[in-house]
Amino acid sequence: MHDARTAARLPVQADRPCPIHPLAMQLTFDDGPGPSTRALLDALATARCPATFFALGCHLRTDLAVAVRMLHEGHTLGNHTFSHAPAGALSIDALIDEIHRTDRLIRAAYRTADLRPPDSIPLRLPYGVRPGDRRLSALRQLGRSHVGWTGLFEDWLTRPAAQLATSMRRHIVEQRARGEAATLCLHDGSPRGETRDATVQAVRLLLQV
Ligand SMILES: [Zn+2]
Repeated sequence: MHDARTAARLPVQADRPCPIHPLAMQLTFDDGPGPSTRALLDALATARCPATFFALGCHLRTDLAVAVRMLHEGHTLGNHTFSHAPAGALSIDALIDEIHRTDRLIRAAYRTADLRPPDSIPLRLPYGVRPGDRRLSALRQLGRSHVGWTGLFEDWLTRPAAQLATSMRRHIVEQRARGEAATLCLHDGSPRGETRDATVQAVRLLLQV
């Protein structure tokens, strides 16, 4: 089981409230930033819907400007390690080093945005964690918790945007029926720097922008 984040962030309520269950949904995006990130930010800005971006250090290193834009537009930056190495690929020390390298880039984005970095940057490890995952010992050493999700939609596979949006909407409704907030795990990039056009379009459909 994944360790789901329980505290939902509330989409900003403005003249155009988020039409999809505005009190019970959080959008999170992993593996970016990438070529689709700016289009996604445009959609989120139109919908006035803040999100959390679990960014890869290897991409932040080459495009910190988009992370600065995220912060200016009210989004949260999270750490998704530097290289997206899977469980078991790195020693614990090497994993901790990757987390620190990515933290430094995230703090640099906050400083460039003229904002104070948070005391603890949200962290989500590649592929999530399961009980017994050795990487949890790195988190314990760092005193950090893991941010999970309640819904994963395989948006990294080629799927029609309308189908993705339907799955996302269904998950939000199911969570709501259980009295629980939905934390959607989507992808605005990939370790190889691929586009995520279907994800962007699905978010537009979900938010009706
Ligand atoms: Zn990932």
